Amino acid sequence: MSNDTLRDLSQNPLVQRLGVPRIPVLRRHSPGAPLLTGPALVGVIGAGAFAEPVRALLEDAAVEVIASPDAGDEGKVAAVVLDATAARTLDDLAAVQQFLTPAVKRLAPGGRLLVLSPESDPSEGPLAGPSIDTDVEAAAVAQAFDGLIRSAGKEVRAGATANLLVVSPDAAIGSSVRFFLSARSTYVDGQVVHVGPATVEEPADVEHPLAGRVAVVTGAARGIGAAIAATLARDGATVVAVDIPAAGESLARVANQAGGTALQLDITAPDAAQRLIAHVQERHGHVDLVVHNAGITRDKLLANMDADRWNAVMAVNLRSQLTINAALLESDVLSDSGRIVCVASTSGIAGNRGQTNYAASKAGVIGMVRALAPKLAERGATINAIAPGFIETEMTATMPLGTREAGRRINSLRQGGLPVDVAETVGWLGQAASGGVTGQVVRVCGQSLLGA
Ligand code: NAD
Repeated sequence: MSNDTLRDLSQNPLVQRLGVPRIPVLRRHSPGAPLLTGPALVGVIGAGAFAEPVRALLEDAAVEVIASPDAGDEGKVAAVVLDATAARTLDDLAAVQQFLTPAVKRLAPGGRLLVLSPESDPSEGPLAGPSIDTDVEAAAVAQAFDGLIRSAGKEVRAGATANLLVVSPDAAIGSSVRFFLSARSTYVDGQVVHVGPATVEEPADVEHPLAGRVAVVTGAARGIGAAIAATLARDGATVVAVDIPAAGESLARVANQAGGTALQLDITAPDAAQRLIAHVQERHGHVDLVVHNAGITRDKLLANMDADRWNAVMAVNLRSQLTINAALLESDVLSDSGRIVCVASTSGIAGNRGQTNYAASKAGVIGMVRALAPKLAERGATINAIAPGFIETEMTATMPLGTREAGRRINSLRQGGLPVDVAETVGWLGQAASGGVTGQVVRVCGQSLLGA
């Protein structure tokens, strides 16, 4: 589903000869496809405890593992993973550079650079040491990975990505490592995600990591929501697709294709939360994943903003999420491995002209996620936000050409994302095994240069 003519043209060698750089065609997941299409280079700094489980995960996925940038046949590698969780000093950081410099040279087009770094809070776990100065150096080193990875993301070429997992000593990293190495994370670039412990084991069938789970998706009749419904169903979930009655026909189509049920519901109605909960309780007894995707725009400069536009956007984008989440917390319908995923926007991070109402609502979603994460943690559940950047949808297809072209190109991958890229990210966060990821904001924006 691409209407990106420039990207298509740039594949032509004649066009490249005119000086137009090739815009990479991104690899996307298809059922049964291998995790990686080549070997993975896995390194470790000092006594890092995560390289071994990463190697085991890769070997389980039939990926050849190479231990050093100089080993193997010196050909390209599909992924570079560095366990730098034991890094505490500037000398350790120098060792990180010594590993990564030759390693990134070997990274194949569309490759994955994934670094695991320690938490920066000196009061947490192993960073607490006898000397305050040592703690301060360790905290500085931990934070240094942030700048390193965000810069590497801007350097790696040809559709390759670079991401950072900040992991606690007892973190459950499996589902996150698998996501970031796979083609499912193709438009997730330059991101920093904290991963903590989780009680739930890895899924038995990694091809269907949502098997047996019940998922509600709002705004599912079209666009990103329809892609989320299809992707969650592909990964094994039973989907309840929610949208307004006016979208009933396309909602029914999406629900049928996903093999799930349709619920016609205006999420701003006063009884929306109760109706939603009653529906899942009657049909399924519980819900494992709630995806707050429905959203609207009513753009106007602040100077010309009226209360109707302001309130309409707040009602759909923020108030409905607050109300439904409060009702979920009060009820026992959300399972113990419950996951809530809230769709925000990079507009809520970077701001966007004409979108004070929309950006305020989306920034509000991020605030809500951070406030609710500790409350949900008490019952083993998580809540995270996804902030999409420029995604190729009906909405972006109708933008004026100049605005559309600018939106597409100002990111490290030099193209827009697809609805499925947001959907795959929901699929990762929605897994029971992703219980260590909560309160996070993951941007699906190809490392947009705005609001980075
Ligand atoms: P879309 O307009 O194509 O789809 C939104 C869906 O939400 C529609 O089916 C609509 O009927 C439904 N909806 C609206 N109000 C509702 C209500 N009161 N009750 C129930 N359903 C309702 O939008 P999209 O582009 O697919 O965006 C999906 C989400 O992603 C939104 O939250 C949007 O803000 C966000 N987002 C999109 C982009 C992008 O580039 N398209 C970028 C950043 C964020």
